[in-house]
Parts: sequence; C-alpha cells; structure tokens
Amino acid sequence: MRRAGRLVAEVLALVGSNLRPGVTAAELDVIAERHIRRSGGTPSFKGYRIDTGSPPFPGSICVSIDAEVVHGLPDRRVIRAGQLVSIDAGAIVDGYHGDAARTFYVGDPPAGIAAFIEATQLALLAGIAAARPGNRIGDISGAVEDVAAAAGYGIVRECVGHGIGTAMHEAPDVPNYRMRSAGMRLEPGMCLAIEPMLTLGSPAVGLLEDGWTIVTRDGSLACHFEHSITITADGPEILTTV
Ligand code: MG
Repeated sequence: MRRAGRLVAEVLALVGSNLRPGVTAAELDVIAERHIRRSGGTPSFKGYRIDTGSPPFPGSICVSIDAEVVHGLPDRRVIRAGQLVSIDAGAIVDGYHGDAARTFYVGDPPAGIAAFIEATQLALLAGIAAARPGNRIGDISGAVEDVAAAAGYGIVRECVGHGIGTAMHEAPDVPNYRMRSAGMRLEPGMCLAIEPMLTLGSPAVGLLEDGWTIVTRDGSLACHFEHSITITADGPEILTTV
C-alpha cells in the first residue's frame, strides 16, 4: 500500500509540474501513464467500469476542469490560465491500490479561489486527523463536514470516499457529511481513501453524456483533494505522499 501510495503521489506531483497553459489533458495523461508503468505499476483507472453497462474509463488520470467535480476525461481539451484543474490518479503496485487527488489553479489564484482550495485541503486533513482507532467512519465524515460548512462551501453528496486495498473501491463508504449512523468502528490496519469534493455554489451535481464527468448543476467551481491513508495504533498515516 505504501509503494502504491507513493507512486500515486509522484504522479500528482509530476502532472502538477507539467500543468501549464497550452498543455492538453491527454498529454498529462500520457505523462502519468508513462511514469506509472516505468515504476512497475499499473494505472487502475484505465479501462475501469463503474458497472458492467458503463463505458470503460479511457485514461490513467481524471482531469476535471472548473465546474467538473470528478471523473473528467483526459481528452484533447487544452488547459488555459485561470482554470481550476483537479487531477485524480490511481495505481496498482504488487496488487495493492493507491488513489489520490489534488486541485491546481493554473496561474496565481485570486484570493477567493485560493481560500476555496485551502479549505478543501483543510477539510481533508481534518478528516484524516479523525481517522484514529476507536473513532468511527462518522467521525471522519463529521470532521470534513464541519470544516467545509464553517467555510461556507457546498459538499457534494453523490460521491464519497471509500475503503481501499486489493481493490480500488472497497467497503466502507466514507461520506463527506454526517450520516444518521456513526458507521464502522476504525481499527489499526484499515485503509481508506478520504476525498472531500466541495463547491463554490450549490452542491447539486449531474452526469454528462460521456457517462463519466460529474459537474456542478449551477456551473460553479469545484475542488477535490484525496489521500489514501492507513490507520495505525498511533493514528492515521498518509500513504499517498512522497
Ligand atoms: Mg477515490
């Protein structure tokens, strides 16, 4: 899990360093896939299907621009200055998965956007801090919700974090808002992908006709940060870090 996590973190850093006006989403995808394969990993997103009837995902990373929340396609779209670009990457190393995401602003962000990005990161870190033995899934969800709500941002409800291990998506779900039930008790050895998805406007989302891209219905900007973590006796350990 640590090796897969590290590889995914490397991919996000590499794609981030290549994210500039004029580059296409497809070019970023090539850079990501090459690094994953050269490192002995397999891109877990490529060919992934949500269910048997859905189209296979065409690339190794998701590139979600501006109002796109998650699962944007790494296609021929050209990245421009002033865009908010979320990169989500997944890789398998020796049978174990890593999954992480990060939102970049292309250029110097205006104060309001910088605050939005920072709040989404802080929501993720608050969720991670709550991932301690003896707590429950709901403590992670509540910690994320409290940061996002205090900052006044919308919380996407249709997409949630998840367990991760020998499959990319395992039980349990890790919502970014409190559920009626506090959920599963957290124990050492559990691995989770925690991933707040916040919006500047309404949190309502829709699915584009491509069968993948999730967008805000009101066209407002979205931000997404994700880490895969493991829970140790001493607390959380972030796996998707270099
Ligand atoms: Mg994920």
